[in-house]
Amino acid sequence: MDRIAPEKRNTCALVVDDEALMRELLTAALEGVGVACVKATAGGASALAILDATDPAEPAVDLVVCDLSMPDMDGVEFLRHLADRRLDVAVVLVSGRDPRILRSAESLGRAHGLRILGSLEKPVTRRALRELLEAPSSGAGPARAPRPAGAPLEPAELRAALANGELSAHFQPKVDVRTRAVVGVEALARWFHPVRRFVPPDQFIALAEEHGLVDQVTEVILGKALRAGATWSATGTELSVAVNISMDSVARLDLPDVVASAARSTGFALGNVMLEVTESRLVRDLTTALDVLTRLRLKGVGLSIDDFGTGYSSLEQLERMPFVELKIDRAFVNGATKDASKRAILESALSLAQKLDLTTVAEGVETEEDWRLLGELGCDLAQGYWIGKPMAAEAVQGWIDAWRSIETARP
Ligand code: C2E
Ligand code: MG
Ligand code: MG
Repeated sequence: MDRIAPEKRNTCALVVDDEALMRELLTAALEGVGVACVKATAGGASALAILDATDPAEPAVDLVVCDLSMPDMDGVEFLRHLADRRLDVAVVLVSGRDPRILRSAESLGRAHGLRILGSLEKPVTRRALRELLEAPSSGAGPARAPRPAGAPLEPAELRAALANGELSAHFQPKVDVRTRAVVGVEALARWFHPVRRFVPPDQFIALAEEHGLVDQVTEVILGKALRAGATWSATGTELSVAVNISMDSVARLDLPDVVASAARSTGFALGNVMLEVTESRLVRDLTTALDVLTRLRLKGVGLSIDDFGTGYSSLEQLERMPFVELKIDRAFVNGATKDASKRAILESALSLAQKLDLTTVAEGVETEEDWRLLGELGCDLAQGYWIGKPMAAEAVQGWIDAWRSIETARP
């Protein structure tokens, strides 16, 4: 009997494919995995008309399964129109063409802010479809480039949030792949807006960077993270605490002092602080960045190059800057067992880091297969939903106890 995650049972899917046979096969596959309602149409224009229709008697479409090569409007154009509508739909791409085209279309969809669950090569099997729909990333949880809800975020809202203490830190465990020991946590900024509810960090960090507020965000998260670290340490749980720093903050000459004073005031050991540097834009002032990063290292703070393989993180920076850790972006971790290109990039990043004597961390471990592969490839640390999702500071000790008990229960 096929099973489907309970939250999928009420899904209403729309199949968009110009070939009648493919529409039938996809419809049957979706029904076979328990999708309650399946609509099908032959092209992008008619699909958009279905999505635009607001008949309250009809169930709203929340999953679009779309072929990339269609004569009237190709899949890429369709994705653009779909993104413009800002609908709450998940998207699965299907193609009989080169798998690399599928992957670029996936990236493009994500860049548009769409929730792309993944892509399927034709012929589509029911098993592949089910795996995609039941993957942890297809359910709740922040998407990579979430769509803003309602009116665009205003900098004044973020200023108010900073003043009203609406920002908090959640913590995601980092564990040793070989020994399963919990070695640290990464602090992730969380904003629970009184009206908008959860605002994902990808949205408000970008806003903070644009409007010169990112240093204030850093200070808030740093304070909360190190305070939590000091509390765990007081009860005998020594964890390394990682905080994300955008390259804009690295341009601030007083960053080493800000970090040192946060450590002093919370009583957390500077040597247990890790700063994860992400580059969302090019470093304008390399001299200042090098000055700041070197002084941080001199104080004993660890530096990690985050999201390696994406953005502007480059081999040149790896060589010049005093990083001790390399975090491989989840784009090359989750699903690497099934995707030769991902796996090749993962293996090269690991071997590069090992040669440079950097600790390796894989992000986005979503399945046991991801975890096993990291063990085989000799990755040092891992982080991801399969291990533990980001959680409130108060939940961390309980999570560690539970993780340890699973460990001892294993043969
Ligand atoms: P990041 O530093 O790469 O953090 C990891 C992100 O991946 C987090 O998203 C986390 O929730 C998510 N994640 C963890 N495991 C998995 C998994 O198995 N699967 C999937 N699909 N996702 C997973 P989050 O919390 O939405 O943060 C997004 C980004 O926002 C962070 O990426 C980081 O670059 C930035 N950010 C978060 N907090 C701060 C902060 O305090 N300061 C700065 N400057 N940036 C921050
Ligand atoms: Mg990070
Ligand atoms: Mg990352």
